[in-house]
Amino acid sequence: MTTTAPRIATALAERAMHAAHAHRAADPDGFHHRHDDPDQWNRWARRARVARTIAAALQVGVDGVLVTDDPRRTYRTRTGPVPGDLITVTDPVTERAWRFIPDFTAPGDGWLLLDRCPGCDAEVPVTRIATLGDLGEYLDPDGDSPIADEARDESIHQPGCVLGLPAVNG
Ligand SMILES: [Zn+2]
Repeated sequence: MTTTAPRIATALAERAMHAAHAHRAADPDGFHHRHDDPDQWNRWARRARVARTIAAALQVGVDGVLVTDDPRRTYRTRTGPVPGDLITVTDPVTERAWRFIPDFTAPGDGWLLLDRCPGCDAEVPVTRIATLGDLGEYLDPDGDSPIADEARDESIHQPGCVLGLPAVNG
């Protein structure tokens, strides 16, 4: 979200309208279509829970979290492919956007941080995050944060990047 949220002392109605404007600006498609059918509403409500959960984990306000369709990743379901969640957490202090995708080894409780590959600059999932401390360990030059297996997938790197490895199952 790009606009500054009103202070917490502001009346609920005013904050609610600000939230609607901010969401409409940041994700017009998702906001506009959320009532289209039960699946859309279910996705909308589920993403609201994702936003609350990651906001609590990273100790930021939920108004700084936006969950939108992931333009690069879809997931198979019984009713066909659905877009994945792309989670953007905007730091209210620096306005830096941190991006995450779901970690299916810890559904609902963990995420994969997206960051630039040092080899090819592609945005890849680099490490598992469930708490603010996990993020800190990744950012700390003296930290010992393991790189996620997902980071090695050759198909998400630029051709020839030494950090990508061919998929085991071809
Ligand atoms: Zn790379």
